[in-house]
Amino acid sequence: MNKFEQLGLNESLLLAIKDLGFENPSEVQEKAIPVLLEQNTDLVALAQTGTGKTAAFGFPLIQKIDAEDRSTQALILSPTRELCLQITNEIKQYSKYVKGLHTVAVYGGASITEQAREVKRGAQIIVATPGRMQDMINRGLVNIKNINYCILDEADEMLNMGFYEDIVSILSDTPDDKNTWLFSATMPAEVARIAKKFMHEPAEVTVGAKNSGSATVSHEFYVVNARDRYEALKRLADANPDIFSVVFCRTKRDTQAVAEKLIEDGYNAAALHGDLSQAQRDSVMKSFRGRQVQMLVATDVAARGIDVDNVTHVVNYQLPDEIETYNHRSGRTGRAGKLGTSIVIITKSEIRKIHAIEKIIKQKFEEKSIPSGIEICE
Ligand code: ADP
Ligand code: MG
Repeated sequence: MNKFEQLGLNESLLLAIKDLGFENPSEVQEKAIPVLLEQNTDLVALAQTGTGKTAAFGFPLIQKIDAEDRSTQALILSPTRELCLQITNEIKQYSKYVKGLHTVAVYGGASITEQAREVKRGAQIIVATPGRMQDMINRGLVNIKNINYCILDEADEMLNMGFYEDIVSILSDTPDDKNTWLFSATMPAEVARIAKKFMHEPAEVTVGAKNSGSATVSHEFYVVNARDRYEALKRLADANPDIFSVVFCRTKRDTQAVAEKLIEDGYNAAALHGDLSQAQRDSVMKSFRGRQVQMLVATDVAARGIDVDNVTHVVNYQLPDEIETYNHRSGRTGRAGKLGTSIVIITKSEIRKIHAIEKIIKQKFEEKSIPSGIEICE
């Protein structure tokens, strides 16, 4: 009996898991799946990014859904469009051997009538961003009055992004006797408030120390003069020819400018930020996943929660305004047990911020110097 079987997962899920190549459940999966399968309970699960939370709720959810009944049975709320699509794709992969199970993604920037049509055709699982979901409810395009499961994924991110009111309003449209499963990397006060307000004696699953860094990511910083930032980025890329990275900038403008310069200088780069159309964003993500793009230059909002395998480096071209955001950035690498490096390019005056970040991530940075032209050629 393999370990997933021991957790109580059924044959169609085990087949899909085999196709995915997952050998063993991650810790959060090992802890959450049996609880969710065996009990009708609310659940709060806290685990760092990259620990496999999607499958931790996705597997038991798929097993509990009645695929013969075409009514909407579950709502998964997630913070961004990209994440919404990503979760939908994952759920579809997990449920590929479950006949009759339909999952639909509901998010802004794409046709609401098309999404409503898909829901109406009979989707048991809706994966939605709070804004678009609220819109659908207001227009009477969706009925969530009879759902059995509501999942709040990346709850801390959703609340960070100001979705508190939307979430409260959406949840009040769902039945009292449903089960709510809340997944989050951290437990700030607002998340606790939602849990208290909407959950009844939730089971709790915690993996690792709260808010601590990931052991698979190493952190480095490079001190440069402000005008040499871009040059430093190029040198780092040259020194790592196989780099596959997300490069974070602070503003949409810088994001666009850095990406354009990189492309001009012959690098496989692309920009991802909120001024692009949804179709452009989807196409950039597709190229990045397909590795036609080696350096994805992105804003924090656009890159939130993105899960792309084997990202080797996260580059902080500029540090984020809120140092807490650093955790979310560096969490794009070192996923699923793989090693990754998070790099910060800073000016001398910013060194104190590195020390503040070290306290948050509970890990030390290594100071390094930008490789010289000769070192790169070697
Ligand atoms: P989180 O939501 O905790 O940030 P994800 O659910 O996005 O993490 O999973 C991170 C990565 O790990 C994904 O690429 C996923 O396919 C992979 N993964 C999840 N569970 C397993 C497992 N049991 N074995 C191997 N890889 C896994
Ligand atoms: Mg997740």
